[in-house]
Amino acid sequence: MKGSYQIGRLFGIPILIHFSFLIVIPLLAWIIGSQISLTTTTLQDLFQVPIDSSLITAGFMPWILGTIVALGLFLGVLVHEIAHCIVARKKGVKIRNITLLIFGGVSQMEEEDVPDPKIELPMAFVGPLTSLLFGLVCAGLVYLVPVMIKDSPIAGVLIFIFGYLALLNVILFAFNLIPAFPMDGGRVLRAALAQRMPVHKATRIAADVGKGFAIIFGIVGLLFFNPFLILIALFVYLGASSEATMDTFTYLLHDITIGATMSSPVTFVTPTLSVAKVMEMMLSTKHLGFPVVEHDTLVGMITLKDVNRIPQTDREVKLVRDIMTRNPITLPHSAPVMDALKIMS
Ligand SMILES: [Zn+2]
Repeated sequence: MKGSYQIGRLFGIPILIHFSFLIVIPLLAWIIGSQISLTTTTLQDLFQVPIDSSLITAGFMPWILGTIVALGLFLGVLVHEIAHCIVARKKGVKIRNITLLIFGGVSQMEEEDVPDPKIELPMAFVGPLTSLLFGLVCAGLVYLVPVMIKDSPIAGVLIFIFGYLALLNVILFAFNLIPAFPMDGGRVLRAALAQRMPVHKATRIAADVGKGFAIIFGIVGLLFFNPFLILIALFVYLGASSEATMDTFTYLLHDITIGATMSSPVTFVTPTLSVAKVMEMMLSTKHLGFPVVEHDTLVGMITLKDVNRIPQTDREVKLVRDIMTRNPITLPHSAPVMDALKIMS
């Protein structure tokens, strides 16, 4: 993904951060810091543990704690993604990298094909499960801290951090179990449906459920003026749409080679042909581009876009070689047509 930088490797998997991640950390730190008193009370009620807030609210502490919790949240996201990757790798799926983004993490698989439902089910499920486990460990620490450190404002700080992270990771667990794309629950749903129907049909249903959830999130977000929920709705909707489109292409074009879809014999032009003549050929053949061939060798490619850049009056004098794209990208006859589509898009 563009705008991503590698920060290191874990278990041999490159970990990348996207620039949007650098924006969201200070933003989250600020949101958490500005609501610190309210959150302390909420956590106290939730865990039924008294929290000494004297140090939590002192000076710059709300912003420091906000940053720690924001970073802790992304540590939780990273652990969640690593769990996906470890299970994927055990099942023979190669992982290119993990990218940390504004809304969490993304694990990029080497092959973009839909995995076997038997592989996808445990792979999808382990992520939310890890979040739940991480949340429960943090919750355990909330109760352990008062036993270890008695009557100290530091105990209050630690309870605040662990309590907050416990809550966030349980939310992450619940959110990801929503049975809709692009959440993990969508993958679980697809894998379950795929036992009974073709994968592309299962994908479509999971994506439609995703769009349904997105619309509900959007409406609720608008009703309660919650910009965060509206943003999540948008993210879920776009994720569901792109997942469905990509899978439809992959399914429909599965096993189809370039040789089977290309036109043959190939209509080509020579470098010395006039642009006006090429335009005429485009109109008569309805082809929007031609390979340029000289002495039986491919030397370039000319498309409607190239022709359109030349004013009408110059098309008689301009030649193909003046405007053609040199060194065009080529693919062998036997390559899957999906490869061509990926390069084009
Ligand atoms: Zn996940």
